[in-house]
Amino acid sequence: MVKFITAISTLLIVSASAFTPQTVQHARVNNVALSMTNEKPISKRKRALKHLGKVAGAVASAALMTGGANPAFAAAQKAKDAAEVVEGTNSIVSLLKTLDTKSIVAATAGAYAAVFVGGEIFGGDAEKEVVKQDFLEADPYWDQSNVPVNVYKNKAPFTGKVVSTKRIVGPKATGETCHIVIDHEGDFPYWEGQSWGVIPPGVREKDGKPHSVRLYSIASSRYGDDMSGKTGSLCVRRATYWCPEMKAEDPAKKGVCSNFLCDTKAGDEVQMTGPAGKVMLMPEEDPKTDLIMVATGTGIAPYRGFIRRLFTEKTPAGEAYEGTAWLFLGVANSDALLYDDEWQEVKKNYPDNFRLDYALSREQENKKGGKMYIQDKVEEYADEIFTKLDNGAHIYFCGLKGMMPGIQDMLKGVAESKGLDYDEWLKGLKKSKQWHVEVY
Ligand code: FAD
Repeated sequence: MVKFITAISTLLIVSASAFTPQTVQHARVNNVALSMTNEKPISKRKRALKHLGKVAGAVASAALMTGGANPAFAAAQKAKDAAEVVEGTNSIVSLLKTLDTKSIVAATAGAYAAVFVGGEIFGGDAEKEVVKQDFLEADPYWDQSNVPVNVYKNKAPFTGKVVSTKRIVGPKATGETCHIVIDHEGDFPYWEGQSWGVIPPGVREKDGKPHSVRLYSIASSRYGDDMSGKTGSLCVRRATYWCPEMKAEDPAKKGVCSNFLCDTKAGDEVQMTGPAGKVMLMPEEDPKTDLIMVATGTGIAPYRGFIRRLFTEKTPAGEAYEGTAWLFLGVANSDALLYDDEWQEVKKNYPDNFRLDYALSREQENKKGGKMYIQDKVEEYADEIFTKLDNGAHIYFCGLKGMMPGIQDMLKGVAESKGLDYDEWLKGLKKSKQWHVEVY
């Protein structure tokens, strides 16, 4: 051990680095992704990761120097084990496959060092990342009899604190959408699919009364993006008003609450109510249940909570899940896609349980040569979807109100082509609670 530590110290002084820069980059990307919305840990991590390459390389080389290949391989194995339990480190594992033996030893020992160093430098943050997300569960976890509803009301709202606010769409997106993380210190629990109310500050121009509450679907799982159980995230589109006479945006008529939220900065206070709604909860009792999630724009928010719970986090629901979760997202163009990187990662890791289809109205054509709207994309898979629904799948719709007439017309057409009475078919889905709609 002494020999080992001495070797590390020596190596640190001479700054040996057997750790490939590519691997360091992977470690960085994954750590940032893990806490993309939590400013403090990111900056801590960024600082620490600056030194990570050297330390990791030194540990790897020290393992080789002091004990030869065996301890190094042991470190490598540990690294692999650690990498497999730390979310998002799959890229490290896949990278290992491409390296030669010596590099594997160095890089994997380095990866192990990264996890070890993470635990030390971040005061145990890295350890937290491997902790299961099971401390906010009902008993059994799927029991919905005690879902919290309207714990905080207009007259006695909760004061949350903004952790971060980030624009999450590209430059060519139509409008602006932001991801906002709010700290509730664990005092405002909610379930995936619920909404928070937000009371914007100030008073209404027309009568001087306080602004009314606006609802926003919660875009994180109950554990929050940092998985601490103390934050929740919103996905908010800034409402602007295009004045046809002025042929420009009229700032006097912009949406009050969405602009307030999109303009928030870390540390700002937000008056909140809720949690609201049970319509969009996930049916977890039968883990084989297929989920069909249809969204336009910010309608993606509740599904982000679902998908994180089922695939990204180590939850009992995720561990048990054997069905297929199928996400349809409709937006104007690829710059307007929301959380695409997260969906791609889930698709890569769970190709048998997660499906993803986009309708990009301004970039794709439907089969009739018109714009590809959400109902056109869903229609492409109508047979499969009807079969899944026949077999007990749940279907969800969330986003702009305007999406539903097109969806309903499409479903009616498909039902009739199959000789089904659409109204009866729909009634059946509603009765068995397979039909979930939250549009605004
Ligand atoms: P408001 O101030 O209420 O204005 C509404 C609209 O009127 C705006 O487009 C504004 O530009 C326009 N307007 C203002 N003044 C005038 C005028 N004089 N003449 C003409 N037009 C005018 N939204 C999200 O972004 N993300 C979500 O996840 C989300 N989830 C929701 C969940 C539920 C259950 C519900 C019911 C709604 C949800 N919403 C969500 C919508 C959200 O609640 C708000 O309705 C939305 O953000 C607009 O609120 P605002 O205060 O910004 O706009």
